[in-house]
Amino acid sequence: METILVQGAMTSEIELIIKLLAESNKIDIAEQNGYSFYETYLNGTRIIVSKTEMGVMNACISTMIAIEKYKPNIVINQGTAGAHLRELNVGDIIIGEEAVYINNTRSPAKKTGEGSNALEWHPGNSLSILVKATCELVEKALSIPYEGKVLCGRLGTGDVFSKEADRIDLLHSQLGEISEDMESVAVYNVCEKLNIPFIGIRVISNNELTGNSDIEKQFEIAQTKLQLFIFKFLTELTDNSK
Ligand code: SAH
Repeated sequence: METILVQGAMTSEIELIIKLLAESNKIDIAEQNGYSFYETYLNGTRIIVSKTEMGVMNACISTMIAIEKYKPNIVINQGTAGAHLRELNVGDIIIGEEAVYINNTRSPAKKTGEGSNALEWHPGNSLSILVKATCELVEKALSIPYEGKVLCGRLGTGDVFSKEADRIDLLHSQLGEISEDMESVAVYNVCEKLNIPFIGIRVISNNELTGNSDIEKQFEIAQTKLQLFIFKFLTELTDNSK
């Protein structure tokens, strides 16, 4: 049987999807190693909604657990992200054609008392991770209607919340990511290594470059828009008439 795993880091990033799924089928809840999994069906396909918790390590661990426990045929990682381009607005959706690891930094040497300057940091060689999402899933996601902007691009992931415009511009020029989140590349890496089709989809919830900062209200608006989009995507993926 087909199984689709849908992930979100926070309760607020999955609760609307769960509510929409619950309209047609009952939801079973499971807890494993501190991670929550919600099991249900949509058009005969098993859907597992997983709360990964925030950050790269949680994303890796919970993805590994989900794959072992539920053996998904498709993994969809989704959630909010900060913009790394000025033209991106709250509510814009990014289909993550690829994802890059942005934590991978090396600083120049400085002696005691010489301080620290993140604008002098460069990506190191040893942890450069750039992973491409599954093409067919990217194409399918791009065909889902949305009242707003949908673009295809490179997601950036690290255990950071960058709020300095110069640092964001530098990261973008070094690695080409158009957004910043804390999970995507971790999930991409696990799924690629284990040969499971995957895609990451993010909604812009804050743009620190234009002063649209990380306020709760914006997160809520963005999360609602994305979850409605993800539900449409799930409906399309499970449509048996195609
Ligand atoms: N209101 C939330 C904020 C969480 S921000 C809270 O109080 O906990 C971190 C989460 O949102 C991560 O899961 C990450 O993937 C996503 N995120 C949104 N904007 C981000 C940004 N600018 N940088 C990094 N992660 C961001």
